[in-house]
Amino acid sequence: MKAIRVHEFGGPEVLKLEEVPTPKPSAGQVLVRIHAAGVNPYETYMRAGTYPLKPPLPYTPGSDGAGLVEAVGEGVKKVRANDRVYTARTASGSYAEYALALEEEVHALPAKVDFKQGAGIWVPYGTAYHALYHQAKAHASETVLVHGASGGVGIAAVQIGRAIGLRVLGTAGTPGGLEIAKREGAHAIFDHRKAGYQDEILQATVNRGVDIILEMLANVNLSHDTKLLANNGRIIVIGSRGEVTINPRELMGRRASIRGFSLWGITPTEEADIHAGIFAGLENGTLRPFVGKELPLAEASRAHREILEPGAAGKIVLIC
Ligand code: NAP
Repeated sequence: MKAIRVHEFGGPEVLKLEEVPTPKPSAGQVLVRIHAAGVNPYETYMRAGTYPLKPPLPYTPGSDGAGLVEAVGEGVKKVRANDRVYTARTASGSYAEYALALEEEVHALPAKVDFKQGAGIWVPYGTAYHALYHQAKAHASETVLVHGASGGVGIAAVQIGRAIGLRVLGTAGTPGGLEIAKREGAHAIFDHRKAGYQDEILQATVNRGVDIILEMLANVNLSHDTKLLANNGRIIVIGSRGEVTINPRELMGRRASIRGFSLWGITPTEEADIHAGIFAGLENGTLRPFVGKELPLAEASRAHREILEPGAAGKIVLIC
């Protein structure tokens, strides 16, 4: 089979398309014929060798993919050959024509969701769901600011927030990204490249502030975020690419909090909640993964370059 292999940590050019043996499922494993693989920012950090998790070399990147079950190992009961599934982590990497996953890492894909969309489920929707439900404990009638609403996690958060009755404010940095955030359900949108846009956000809340901020770039925004919160506000740090200084007094006066998490650290109960919630939303159409760019598997290095560029517009997926 064809697979992307990384033999050394480094720039996008270390992603090489190679011919490798198709793996066979052991007991408890499922072999999936991957039709599309999702590209997430963490895969670029892992490839660069700067991520806390360093896979042994060589390895095939990717946790998110969708396709058909090709074969199952002994004892697997949840799925069988030809079932449509998406993966949430894999044992062998999803940037490949076939991927091995544990039985618990494959999940049914509702009929109305195609494989390209299926490749954009786990990390984006799992993260957005966990941030809103488990971390922020959001409830209907609250206001959420999705700070970075044009990318994978942001669009998922806008759709989930909208579906559960939140007032959703979204930011993006390009006209195209702003349009996507609005179309996917944001009640109001703000350009995070425009000077003074934070004042516009406050005005949109009649100076009350927002209850929840889902933050995609905390190193840039955190010190301003603390000033945009209502009383008992919660900032959930999803993404950060550096250090930042904040004034804790902004939190004290508001009884506010800042929380962070990594999707790798969720509990089995949280994970079960997430998949059940995501399945329901995909099935009833409130969750609609939006694929902005499709590239052939061979262009994985291009995908890794482009996902870190400004101007996000939905998911980037690799067609395998
Ligand atoms: P993505 O698809 O590349 O989207 C990146 C988003 O960040 C875009 O909406 C982009 O907006 C926005 N952004 C850029 N500059 C910004 C700024 N100054 N202020 C606010 N937003 C800004 O990436 P993703 O998959 O959504 O992931 C977003 C971040 O969360 C990444 O850093 C990723 O590593 C992290 N993440 C963390 C976890 C976790 O477990 N904690 C899980 C998933 C993702 P424009 O391009 O329109 O400017």
